[in-house]
Amino acid sequence: MSGKEKGVNVQVLLRCRPFSDDELRSNAPQVVTCNDYSREVAVSQNIAGKHIDRVFTFDKVFGPSAQQRELYEQAVTPIVNEVLEGFNCTIFAYGQTGTGKTFTMEGECKRSKSGPNGELPPEAGVIPRAVKQIFDTLESQNAEYSVKVTFLELYNEEITDLLAPEELSKVSLEEKQKKQLPLMEDGKGGVLVRGLEEEIVTCASEIYTLLERGSSKRRTAETLLNKQSSRSHSLFSITIHIKEATPEGEELIKCGKLNLVDLAGSENISRSGAREGRAREAGEINKSLLTLGRVINALVEHLGHIPYRDSKLTRLLRDSLGGRTKTCIIATVSPAVHCLEETLSTLDYAHRAKNIRNKPEVNQK
Ligand code: ADP
Repeated sequence: MSGKEKGVNVQVLLRCRPFSDDELRSNAPQVVTCNDYSREVAVSQNIAGKHIDRVFTFDKVFGPSAQQRELYEQAVTPIVNEVLEGFNCTIFAYGQTGTGKTFTMEGECKRSKSGPNGELPPEAGVIPRAVKQIFDTLESQNAEYSVKVTFLELYNEEITDLLAPEELSKVSLEEKQKKQLPLMEDGKGGVLVRGLEEEIVTCASEIYTLLERGSSKRRTAETLLNKQSSRSHSLFSITIHIKEATPEGEELIKCGKLNLVDLAGSENISRSGAREGRAREAGEINKSLLTLGRVINALVEHLGHIPYRDSKLTRLLRDSLGGRTKTCIIATVSPAVHCLEETLSTLDYAHRAKNIRNKPEVNQK
């Protein structure tokens, strides 16, 4: 039974990117086949006499020819509508490095921004499209509103503010490490990141500028700390307050939050093995990815205990996972044979998170 049928709004989508130029040049065999209509992804390959033939079912499947707009309209528009109604929602991109997480989340938004009438280029990803939908809706309504954004990075369970004003390139490594922000209980069952910059924005283009600032800071930090962004998670959050008058003339404030998460490359899990013992060896990098999978699974399965507290990412997102929220995981894979092992690991993770049965009508509990 899918989560939606049980009342949990967790959607797991699969997107398979097209072959890269290098893969085309090397005539890399295709091992992944998507069937958008049946929502199935088939993986088949013969290796050293061993035949791999597996089929995974998701809530939606987007093959190599799927356009950014198509994915947005089918998967994200309803989520942003929910945020505008005053709910907290989260969209994750999960997959091996190089499979299209950033393409899906950001697309070409930073380079091309928007056209003269605010229209977006076809390559624009989820974030610029969500920002546009939010401001188009707010501007068309006759209501007072405010929009705030935060942008942070989580690396090795340490939080860094990507919108903090100082010039990171001038900050020494030691100082940089001191700037890790603590996560505190807020006394209301939630958490807050002490010292995190909240930027108030009044239009879409201000958000694009902040995104650009945060992403370039992330790249500078990478160089300073000699790490790769594939090992860190980034969390971009947009909080919206809308003041409305009820028919009785009372004032009502709706507050919704959209979290957009570009997760660390899933190879950080699979190389060390997704199993408990070996995952521990790989340290903190895996913690948030593994815990996230368990939290979503616990929500979908309606387990009594949801292990939010087991990682910083899930603690941070606690108010946006479960309850009356919508969660969407976009798992990304490559169609090529050289990624086969990671592809199977991504498909397993995404599939397990939701626990979608291939034949729900037969296997319902
Ligand atoms: P990741 O963030 O997972 O490391 P990227 O988003 O950087 O991966 O994608 C790797 C490369 O593949 C980029 O050059 C990107 O433009 C291209 N790419 C990824 N997904 C698609 C897609 N669906 N359609 C076209 N190109 C894509």
